[in-house]
Amino acid sequence: MEEATVREQLVERSCAWCGEPVAYSGRGRPPRFCSPVHRRRAWEVRSAEERAGRPVSEGGRSTEPVREIVQRTETLVRTRVVPGSVEGRQQAPRPAQRLSGQPYTLPEDAVEWIEALAVLRREAVTNPRVAPFREHIANACERTLEALRSDATGPGEDSPGES
Ligand SMILES: [Zn+2]
Repeated sequence: MEEATVREQLVERSCAWCGEPVAYSGRGRPPRFCSPVHRRRAWEVRSAEERAGRPVSEGGRSTEPVREIVQRTETLVRTRVVPGSVEGRQQAPRPAQRLSGQPYTLPEDAVEWIEALAVLRREAVTNPRVAPFREHIANACERTLEALRSDATGPGEDSPGES
């Protein structure tokens, strides 16, 4: 005579988010997720689905299509050779193109210019491609200083406000 007793015990369960097996020790509630991260993911998706089902006025998702505004700015660089011009007098081409023809980006706002000038202060003494031309750069800086300290106000017609 044999007596068989059968006892079933949960030993493993798959994570409700990723499906990976999660061991169960046998004590307490069996884990539903392999990690707190996956618990959080599952919760986010659940609550997002709930939000999506509600109207926007109740914190739900907009049913309007996403709109994007793309602004396109083209800069044309035209380089002319002015015959017999004296250095320092000639109209320099707008620097947006390297000698190699590769375009490069100029600072776009005051913060970026201030950062660029800080780089210049360092490069002026350390960069062998800049240092030999310190005097030229200094002249350009003096002209820049004059412009910065002049009373002229910015681009008049384009200034926003009055209309
Ligand atoms: Zn998981």
